[in-house]
Amino acid sequence: MIAKETSDQLSKLIGSEKVFFREDGKLDQNTFDSYGLDRTKVYSPKYQILLFPENTEDVQKIVKYAYENGIAIVPSGGRTGYAGGAVAKSGEIVISLAKMNKVLDFDPFLGTLQVQAGMITKNLHKEAEERGFYFPVDFAATGSSHIGGNIATNAGGVRVVQYGLIRDWILGLTVVTGKGEIFRFNGEILKNNTGYDLKHLFIGSEGTLGIITECVVKLTKPPKDIRVIFLAVPEYKNILDIFKETHNFSLPLLAFEFLTDYCLKKVKEHLSVSDPFPESSKYYVLMEYEVQDEADEEKLFGILETITEKELITDGSIAQNSRQNETFWKYREGISESLSLAHTVHKNDISLPLRNMEAFLADMEALLATKYQGFEVALFGHIGDGNLHLNIVKPKELSDADFFERCKSVDPEMFSLIQKHKGSISAEHGIGLLKKDYLQFSRSEAEILAMRGIKAVFDPKGIMNPGKVL
Ligand SMILES: Cc1cc2nc3c(=O)[nH]c(=O)nc-3n(C[C@H](O)[C@H](O)[C@H](O)COP(=O)(O)OP(=O)(O)OC[C@H]3O[C@@H](n4cnc5c(N)ncnc54)[C@H](O)[C@@H]3O)c2cc1C
Repeated sequence: MIAKETSDQLSKLIGSEKVFFREDGKLDQNTFDSYGLDRTKVYSPKYQILLFPENTEDVQKIVKYAYENGIAIVPSGGRTGYAGGAVAKSGEIVISLAKMNKVLDFDPFLGTLQVQAGMITKNLHKEAEERGFYFPVDFAATGSSHIGGNIATNAGGVRVVQYGLIRDWILGLTVVTGKGEIFRFNGEILKNNTGYDLKHLFIGSEGTLGIITECVVKLTKPPKDIRVIFLAVPEYKNILDIFKETHNFSLPLLAFEFLTDYCLKKVKEHLSVSDPFPESSKYYVLMEYEVQDEADEEKLFGILETITEKELITDGSIAQNSRQNETFWKYREGISESLSLAHTVHKNDISLPLRNMEAFLADMEALLATKYQGFEVALFGHIGDGNLHLNIVKPKELSDADFFERCKSVDPEMFSLIQKHKGSISAEHGIGLLKKDYLQFSRSEAEILAMRGIKAVFDPKGIMNPGKVL
């Protein structure tokens, strides 16, 4: 009943066409549920009110109302997150940015685009391309994720090794704080040293400080031509040695990814791709380079020659056309999809200093052998960034509940190892609900206290995505 009254009040504020009350039947229950869920699959949605604002002022009206009435809010982007950040399971109101998907401005001098935060990331790529530019943040979920969700999670992706995280590509942000204030952080100028750069607090804040409604993203020139190389690598150590070799060639390395043979098998089973090589290998590496001219092509062969002579690889192939580029990328980017089609998995997205990686892996393998004896493990990731995606696959005979219980009991031991080797328990997926209880493995008590202080400034009543991150 209270929810119905809230829904009626919100309809008066922003228009009834933007307000969906669960029981009014305007959306079927599955679709309604899907706006309060992400890809974690471990939580059930429980909420009554779903809103589709169309501009920053609509968002402000909603948040002010929620602030005055102490109502919790979950910001909902493309719901591709893997940390439970967009899950509404405690009667919150869900604000979907899906209708806020327009281009607002383009600055040809700076090469920046201003868009609403609900724009699907791939559409932003197209908008940049149509203007002769390139937006380099990309990964397997960008056909569904929102640019606002990417910013709220400080997304990484497959080209971080060359272009960095999304944080490096944000010039300005418009946000509505948990108090309902609109802040417009910069956006038109490159240089602005006027005190604290507050937009960076919202990048990676997972909806806990306010709602990102608009952003100004920096663009760059597209790579002239790209070459994708797929390598068969017999030992883990060799992967790191190959990465070190790439520093000796002045050729822009756009991606450096790896996967195990288990991952490749899963992709072959589900996405009908053929074998890359006649013989299988324990590991595979995908490298992507930008090439400008003949001299660069020679450098590329130089790299292959060097790693072959040093016996770091057992086979290797340069894609000959765009179709082969796609196939090589499918081996890597098809892993998450293939795993989720056939299995329940427990995901860990972690990062380590590359120099500590081998020692960490030895410890990790020992832990897996004792705690997950007989379990299948899918290991892949953005290895050039020190980022591993460690996926524990549920054995058929275990129930989901028993499986997740087991994983929960092992996680602290895994996180202790990560801490010991100076890594992070979340490289790019964020903390959300999933890793909230383990934040202390990567952040000190004093840091967590400072974060709480910052949250209190922007969200004094704690209505923004409560229960997430902190
Ligand atoms: C197949 C696959 C591959 C992936 N690969 C990568 C990868 O390589 N790199 C990577 O970084 N991530 C990856 N992810 C994870 C995910 O896609 C990213 O975290 C993405 O940035 C989330 O964007 P989203 O719009 O889906 O956000 P959602 O899942 O909807 O939300 C994520 C968080 O941001 C908050 N939020 C969303 N929009 C806003 C907003 N406008 N204002 C304030 N808060 C908001 C939500 O409340 C939530 O806490 C992958 C996911 C999948 C399914």
